[in-house]
Amino acid sequence: MTTYNFCAGPAMLPTEVMQQAQQEFLDWNGLGTSVMEISHRSEPYMQMAAEAEQDLRELMAVPDDYHVLFLHGGGRGQFASVPLNISQPGQSADFVVSGHWSKGAVAECGKYLSTRVIANSSTVDGRVTLPSQQAIQVDSKAAFLHYCPNETIEGVEFNWIPDSGAVPLVADMSSNILSAPLDVSRFGVIYAGAQKNIGPSGLAVVIVRRDLVGNARQETPSIFNYELAVKHDSMYNTPPTYSWYLAGLVFKWLKKQGGLAGIANHNAAKASLLYRFIDKSDFYKNSVAQDCRSKMNVPFQLADPKLDELFLQQAEMAGLKALQGHRAVGGMRASIYNAMPRAGVEALVQFMAEFEKRNG
Ligand SMILES: *Cc1c(COP(=O)(O)O)cnc(C)c1O
Repeated sequence: MTTYNFCAGPAMLPTEVMQQAQQEFLDWNGLGTSVMEISHRSEPYMQMAAEAEQDLRELMAVPDDYHVLFLHGGGRGQFASVPLNISQPGQSADFVVSGHWSKGAVAECGKYLSTRVIANSSTVDGRVTLPSQQAIQVDSKAAFLHYCPNETIEGVEFNWIPDSGAVPLVADMSSNILSAPLDVSRFGVIYAGAQKNIGPSGLAVVIVRRDLVGNARQETPSIFNYELAVKHDSMYNTPPTYSWYLAGLVFKWLKKQGGLAGIANHNAAKASLLYRFIDKSDFYKNSVAQDCRSKMNVPFQLADPKLDELFLQQAEMAGLKALQGHRAVGGMRASIYNAMPRAGVEALVQFMAEFEKRNG
């Protein structure tokens, strides 16, 4: 039986990538050893690392005045790294709060500077809705404006980029980086924990505008200091070498999918298949406003929550894994990142239709 893994993170990786990693596991590059067992300063590793950066730059069309860093600490590590690196004591930062993760970013940042939540998501006619640009009035003296373009738990996604004027815009793209083409030049800092759309957990990819690097606070831990990371090509200390390698394989896989334009089409088709099915059923529902729906994480509820357990049990038996919603919102959630094939979403929709027939 084919199984499909809908886990929100760590999420499935492309099957082709996993097969290549398996093939190379004991003998990478003809070295007779695994890539995780060699020095990060060895020529073949450094070359692989540089190529991964180059591929990511190409995929995202990262302008030359941005650094690309491969760091430790995942997404949450950056909740602290961003304020430590790009603000000074006594400054404040503005936040848009649209769910669990943007709220977490505010809390962590609050340890280092004062924070101001300038706009929130809200529920309008029973549907979660993101704030409008008009509602996002940034303090021109703020160190940065932070938002989370895709809230992994609530399944809400901005399909536009907030205008923060001259204030650097910071985005936690952990769950939607590389899912569609993006104008990187609109951002001061883009960061992402790897385990959704990039590779294994632990790694963080940070894309930071050059002029924002070099003013880290005195107390910034060295391994989180952007300037040191730049100076040492993200190898100030031993980087998460295996994760970096796998990320490199994922980038090459993405290029073969037609880059971000290609993968965006694939993602749009998968998401619309699932949302359309949910919308025409009275048995299932999604409570996010149409234009704020995530293409990566699709939460849905059964009209009768007493059936939740049975649904999950039978889905599991049908090879559809990890559909349980986050405990904060309940119900179900299907995470359909880049690596999820269309066939996985088709199998899910088919199962949902059959389950409805049996229990509706
Ligand atoms: C998963 C996730 C995080 C947390 O990532 P960690 O690597 O576990 O720290 C942060 N932000 C968003 C949007 C996420 O989806």
